[in-house]
Order: sequence, then C-alpha cells, then structure tokens
Amino acid sequence: MARIVAKFGGTSVADTARIERAADKIAAEVARGHEVAVVVSAMSGVTNQLVEYCRQISPGHDAREYDAVVASGEQVTAGLMAIALQKRGVAARSWMGWQVPLRTDDVHGKARILDIDTTRMSDSMRAKEVPVLAGFQGVTDEQRISTLGRGGSDTTGVALASALKADRCDIYTDVDGVYTTDPRIVPEARKINKISYEEMLELASLGAKVLQVRSVEMAFKQNMPVQVLSSFDDAIGSDLPGTLVTREEDIMEKSVVNGVAYSKDDAKITLAGVPDVPGVAAKLFGPLADANVNVDMIVQNVSLDGKSTDMTFTVPLGELDRAKDVLSKIKEFKGVKVLTDTQIAKVSVVGIGMRSHAGVALTMFKALAERGINIYVISTSEIKISVIISKEYLELAVRALHTAYGLDKTA
Ligand code: ASP
Ligand code: MG
Repeated sequence: MARIVAKFGGTSVADTARIERAADKIAAEVARGHEVAVVVSAMSGVTNQLVEYCRQISPGHDAREYDAVVASGEQVTAGLMAIALQKRGVAARSWMGWQVPLRTDDVHGKARILDIDTTRMSDSMRAKEVPVLAGFQGVTDEQRISTLGRGGSDTTGVALASALKADRCDIYTDVDGVYTTDPRIVPEARKINKISYEEMLELASLGAKVLQVRSVEMAFKQNMPVQVLSSFDDAIGSDLPGTLVTREEDIMEKSVVNGVAYSKDDAKITLAGVPDVPGVAAKLFGPLADANVNVDMIVQNVSLDGKSTDMTFTVPLGELDRAKDVLSKIKEFKGVKVLTDTQIAKVSVVGIGMRSHAGVALTMFKALAERGINIYVISTSEIKISVIISKEYLELAVRALHTAYGLDKTA
C-alpha cells in the first residue's frame, strides 16, 4: 500500500464529466488499497476569468482582494470532487487552505508556503476519508486568504505530499508526460520515462510548462518523487504510465542529453565600449536587479586595448524597455553604445550525463554549424548548454539537436 497525493490540473477538472472521470481514478486507487489525498486546480479558464474581473474593476486592485477572488475557483472544484467521490461510495471531504491550515507568507498573489498542519487531514485519512484540498491557496498570519502564483496548485500538491510523507505525488494533466522536446516542432519527440529533479528544474525554468518551477524546486529539496501523467488515458497513477521525476541515483540509464528546450521570449542587449575598470559589472547589474529585470546569459569580452570592452546579456522580452530605461540612467555609461536584438531564440540541451561525458558541446556546435546556424552567445552549466541564435532558425535548430543527440523515436 502506498500513500499518494493526486493533483488534478485545470483541464482535468474542466467540467463535471471530467471531474467524474478524475473521481473514477481516485476511487480505483482507493480500491487497490492505496491511501489517497487529492489536490485540485480550478476548472480550466476560470482563474483567467477571475483575474480579468479584478482587472476590469480596477487594474491597480488590492492584492488581498485579488487573492480572495482568484482563490474561489479551487473552492468550487474541491467541493465538486468530494461530491463525485461520495457518489462512488468513497468517503471524502473538501478542505480550503485556511481550514488545514496551509500557512503562507503575506506576499499576496505570489505567496510562499510556510507550513502545512497535517493534524486534521491525517485524522481524516485515518478515518478512511479522502481529503480533497483546494490547490493554489493558503492563509496568512493575518488570517487573509493568499494564493501561490499562477500554476501554484502543482506546488500545493508537492507540498502536501511531503507534509503527509507520501510515497509519490501524481500530477494529472492533459499530456501523458514530459517529452524530449516540444512534439509540435519535432514529431519524433519521445516521452521520457524517468528524469532527475535537476533536469526537470532546468526544463521547467526554460519554459516547459508542465510543472510550475517552484513545485520542482520543492520536490528536489524534499526528495518527493513526482509523476506527470494524463488524466485522459485509462491508466491510473499506480500503473506508473507517466514521467517520473526523481533522484538522479534512481535513474539507471543516464542519458547524456535528455531534453532540448527553447524559448522565444528573450531579447539580447549588447553594450559596446564599456569602461574596463573594476566595479563596472556591479554598476550595471545592480540597478537592473533593483528594477526587477531578470538578467540571464552574460558574456563579457576580454578588453583588447585595456580601456574598454563589450558586454552582452539577455533579458525577458517583456522587460527590455525597463532594462533600456535603467541603462540610460547610469552615468558611467554615457559613451556606451546600446544595441538590442529581439529576433533571437535560446536553445538548450539538458542532461545529467553531461557531467561524465566529454564532447557534448561539440556535438551541439557541429549540428548547428552543419545547418549554417550562427551562434551569438553560449553559456554552460554542469548539466545544460544554452545558445542564443537567430529566431528564424529556431525550429531547424531544435530538430537538428534532437537528432544529433539520438533522441528521435525509432519506431
Ligand atoms: N488555478 C490556478 C491557475 O490557473 C492554479 C493552478 O491551476 O495551478 O494558475
Ligand atoms: Mg498547471
């Protein structure tokens, strides 16, 4: 017998028929003798609608009231799920964040979980009841309702799993797992059976939208295995049909590269003629950080004349104007030429096997060179190599790399 937390995303509870389908899966797990706790998202589209209501009345709305409004979507699905389970003869009870309580800090709209008091939920499970927790929401020390940021129910799921010392957190969604790359670009993309927390963290940070980044960070820290699986397939979580995100030690076959990720949402900034003196990087990146600009890849050239150098870095497209504004106000940068490029894309290959294999980067550079794709910026970490290229070659590059690292499905 295992203890499982099953989280259902918005598309898996999009209407009453789907809620009933999800309830069938939970009932099947219970029938197999597993102990199950459930976390639900709002019906798909509902949170967007609630956010829009707040915006319509006042774009500068009070963050506390925003949370009071947007948390309501999950209340509806938690209650409906409990009703659907009861209809199947499974004892069930809904729980809102404040009833648990699931305590968060007071950063409304993007709160962090402080702790989950599992006393009452554990009592409920001992009494053979399935607790159904509303995802995405919690309560602050001031007894106000808080929410965890968009996609936050994943984090609720993982946090509850670790608080309940569950064996696994199953995340039911509308895809059957994590893929080697975006199947819309590469039809030969394969579902990954097992992936390490670290690889998943890189892929999620790079924009693979299946899991909220924070939920992966938490799973990593708490060592909580997470399975991503489809709620539309017939298999249930304990059949292990999906992608298991787990410890590196539990993965026998360590692929050199496990996934190819990309993002089209970055812009490149080049500063030409930056004074080559100590402290200049701090003068640049300090104000950018203060203005909440997320700087990603940074390269600085060696100065040839000892007086000035060039520096290139990337920022999210949506933060480019803010970044330019900040740059124009740094007085040491008066003579510096600022060049920006929005027609770029970032392509990354990720894999824990890179740690123990040489020549991984070379494969990437060769594959891109063979297609005549120019690389603007390169950055590497222990398990990731990222390059910036022109946006127009993005799909070509992703396909080439997927093939070059042997990820294409053979059947
Ligand atoms: N309903 C919330 C959202 O759409 C939380 C979630 O589904 O994870 O962001
Ligand atoms: Mg989600």
